[in-house]
Amino acid sequence: MATIFTKIAAGEIPSYKVAESEDFYAFLDINPLAEGHTLVIPRKTEADYIFDLDDETYAGLTAFAKKVAVAIKKAIPCKRVGVAVLGMEVPHTHIHLVPLQSEGDLNFSNKKKQLTPERFAEIAAAIAAEFND
Ligand code: 5GP
Repeated sequence: MATIFTKIAAGEIPSYKVAESEDFYAFLDINPLAEGHTLVIPRKTEADYIFDLDDETYAGLTAFAKKVAVAIKKAIPCKRVGVAVLGMEVPHTHIHLVPLQSEGDLNFSNKKKQLTPERFAEIAAAIAAEFND
């Protein structure tokens, strides 16, 4: 059975798309630690654990995430874009990209931001506008 993230990348479940390629898809986390918190996933494998990916997919995913992070940094005022891989909840490899003002912003126990659909859409559009593939 397809994972929820496969369904999102296929457009079967709605998401706030930030960027996509044939092999990878980036979209806003629905329970963000910060405005611009983005998830980057591979489309062609549902491997649960990032370190089970083959080298080519792993390298492609991280290179795509780098381009997304560059776009986030341009669109969202922040000091750095933090990177995290947890996979405690959704069993489909994904990289978290989180705009940071300070170290504590990458604590996944923090209260998540509540954003309106309009704000999610604005943020996704702002990042997408800065994305260069
Ligand atoms: P993890 O598996 O890395 O521990 O956490 C999964 C992340 O995916 C969480 O930050 C959660 O908010 C996000 N997430 C879970 N389900 C959905 C969904 O249906 N849509 C979106 N956009 N994000 C999701």
